[in-house]
Amino acid sequence: MRFERGLDFARAQDAADPLASFRDRFAIPKRPDGTDVIYLCGNSLGLQPTEAVSLVREELEAWGAMAVSAHFAAERPWLSYADRLAPAAAALVGAHPSEVVTMNTLTVNLHFMMVSFYRPTADRRKVLIEQPAFPSDRYAVESQIRLHGFDPADSLIEVGPRPNESVIRMEDLETCICAEGSTIALVLLPGVNYYTGQVFDMAAITRLGQAQGCVVGFDLAHAVGNISLRLHDWNSDFAVWCSYKYLNGGPGAVGGCFVHDRHRDWLDKPRLAGWWGHDPASRFQMGPDFIPISGAGGWQVSNVPILSLAPVLASLDIFEEAGMEALTAKSDRLTSYLAYLVREELGARVEILTPLESGRRGCQLSLRVRGTRADQRRAFEALETHGVVCDWREPDVIRAAPVPLYNRFEDVCEFVGVLQRALVLDS
Ligand SMILES: *Cc1c(COP(=O)(O)O)cnc(C)c1O
Repeated sequence: MRFERGLDFARAQDAADPLASFRDRFAIPKRPDGTDVIYLCGNSLGLQPTEAVSLVREELEAWGAMAVSAHFAAERPWLSYADRLAPAAAALVGAHPSEVVTMNTLTVNLHFMMVSFYRPTADRRKVLIEQPAFPSDRYAVESQIRLHGFDPADSLIEVGPRPNESVIRMEDLETCICAEGSTIALVLLPGVNYYTGQVFDMAAITRLGQAQGCVVGFDLAHAVGNISLRLHDWNSDFAVWCSYKYLNGGPGAVGGCFVHDRHRDWLDKPRLAGWWGHDPASRFQMGPDFIPISGAGGWQVSNVPILSLAPVLASLDIFEEAGMEALTAKSDRLTSYLAYLVREELGARVEILTPLESGRRGCQLSLRVRGTRADQRRAFEALETHGVVCDWREPDVIRAAPVPLYNRFEDVCEFVGVLQRALVLDS
C-alpha cells in the first residue's frame, strides 16, 4: 500500500472510497463550532446508526397500539424478533444461524457459557487466560473457579507478553498449552486484546487446546464487527461478545453468544435454563419439563428485550449491506494509513504497540506517547481541545480505532496532525 502525507491525499482516498456513504447513516457528535468531532473511539462505544431511532420508535408505537398482540401482530413480531438478528450475527462471526443467539450482555453470557463449558475436575481444573485480561473476564473466571470449590491461585494460568515486549507471542501460548494442557479445563482467550489491539490466532489456539482435551472459548468483544471470524470452521466450542463497541448497538446493548453445532443437543448436561430456551412450539403449554431449542437458542433464559434489540437490528442491517469483506479491506487500508502517518509525522515520539501485519491487528492501534509527563499531558489536552475523541489510558497510551463504517482518511490525517503539532512542533 502506498500512502502520502497531507490532507489532499486523505481527501482523495475518501472521494474514491466505495463505503464512504455509510458515514451518513450514523449520528456524529459535534464540536462546539458545529463541525463533526473526530471520533476514533468505536472500540469503546460505536456511533448511533440513525435508523436505530426509527426502529426503537416503531416498537414503542407497536406497544402503544397493540400491547400484548404485538407479540404476533407487530410488523416485526416480538416472539421471533431475536431470530431476525441471527443470520446477520452468524455472518459476522462465521457461523450457522443456529449457532448464534443475541441475548444478555457479555459478562453474563460468559458466565452462562462457563456454567456449561467449564466443568473442572481435580486433575483438570485450570483456566488459561491472557495477561492482562479485561478485568470483567478475570473476575468472571475467578468466581467460576471458586464456585467449583477451587482456588484461582493454582487454577488460573495467565500468559502475558515477555518482559519489554507489548504483545503475547503465539509460541508462548503454544508452549503453555502443550506443557499444561492435561490440567487445563478451559482455554479462554480474546479474539483481539482490548489494550494492545493484538489479534490472536483463534484457529491455531482452538486446534492446540482441543488436541490437549481442553474446551476452547473466545471473548470477541473487540473482534466482532472488526475482523473476519470463522468460528464454525475453526471448531471453537463457544464465544461471547458485546454489541456496543464495533457493532454500534448502543450503550449496554444486548450481546451475543456462539455455541458450536457439535454442542447443539445439550441434553441432560449442565446449563442454567429458562423458559425462553424452551422449544417455542410447546413453550406456552407451560409444562414442567424443559425441552430445549437445539442450538445456541437453547441457552436463552428470559423474554426478549425488544426495545434494546431494535438498535442492534439497525446496526446488523448496515453490516449486512456493507459486508465484512469490504469493511475489512477498507479497515486494513485505513489503519495502515494511520500507522504510516504516525511513523512519518511523529517518528520516535510515539511507539506503536499493536502488531502491524494485517492479520495480527484489526482497526485499533495502541500508541504509546514517549516523553515527559508534560509532553503526555500536552498531547492529551490537544486532542481534547481539537475535538478528537479517542481513548486515553493513563499514563501514556492512546487507543485510536478508525472504523471503516464511519471514519474517513481525513479523520486519521487530522488526528495525527493534532498530535504532531502538540508533540513535535511544540517541543
Ligand atoms: C468491553 C468488554 C467487556 C464488557 O463486558 P460487559 O459485560 O458488556 O460490560 C468484557 N470483556 C472484554 C474483553 C471487553 O472488551
